[in-house]
Amino acid sequence: MIESLLRKYGVKPSKKRGQSFLKSHTIANDMVTVANITRKDTVLEIGGGLGILTEAIVREAGHVYVIEIAPGLVRALRDLFRENNNIDIIEGDALTIALPEVTKIVSNLPYSISSEITFRLLRELRFEQAILMYQKEFAQRLYADAGTQDYSRLTINIKYQAEVECLMEVPATLFYPVPAVDSVVVRMKHRTEGPKAKSDFVFHWMVTGLYSYPNKNLKKALGIWFRNLGVDKKLTEPVINNCRGSLKGDERLRTISIDNLVVLADSILGSIEDGTLPDPRR
Ligand code: SAM
Repeated sequence: MIESLLRKYGVKPSKKRGQSFLKSHTIANDMVTVANITRKDTVLEIGGGLGILTEAIVREAGHVYVIEIAPGLVRALRDLFRENNNIDIIEGDALTIALPEVTKIVSNLPYSISSEITFRLLRELRFEQAILMYQKEFAQRLYADAGTQDYSRLTINIKYQAEVECLMEVPATLFYPVPAVDSVVVRMKHRTEGPKAKSDFVFHWMVTGLYSYPNKNLKKALGIWFRNLGVDKKLTEPVINNCRGSLKGDERLRTISIDNLVVLADSILGSIEDGTLPDPRR
């Protein structure tokens, strides 16, 4: 069925575009069920493909926007849903095209743009929840706990803005063509609880500067980062002291919680404001 549709619309699945199509209506229905979609919802799907997931969303939602980059697949989707009046199929690149306002997002994301599109969705849309399918290894980094091997710069930058929950694993055999890895479906919501840094910009700047070395201890990593910034590494002492006992300097970066990184970011901001660190916002 999938092969004949691909042939009909002249689409050759491209690995670069993460084109692996769901064969399972059950997984598509499950994703829609956990999203708890009603007629009140306007839903965004990134990468409609051959419409297996779209079909399940369209059945429940008030309105659906699908953004699909491949012209052959856009033609297929417009044909498949020609009788539905609650769907807009938009041809374009989800990384650059204007995004519609929606209440929910449900997508089996193109794996090649997982990171970039996730940050864009969090930055630009105020959705109630997103049910998103990712490559398993990538998803595991999104919801990793501090102290685990998967806890990384990506984890921290996402968890600072979002709550991520693992919902289900999806074996590679449920896709055509069969990809090399399994997938995982997660629920993502904007983070509404927990401390926030006084400056989000400084928080992300600090995480980028420090987390090239996730296995180093904090004092060492700060020293390297400060040296790269052209700042005396002796500044590590007051920066750590200003964390008032939350951090001592000997903890490995991989083990530091988001809450303590917020304390550290506020201490760094203090050093920016007293002129001992350069201001990245200028
Ligand atoms: N939703 C379908 C499914 O579950 O079978 C297809 C999912 S497939 C993993 C990803 C889809 O995203 C493909 O149809 C691909 O053409 C599309 N895609 C890839 N990059 C894209 C981009 N930058 N913007 C919009 N769609 C994109």
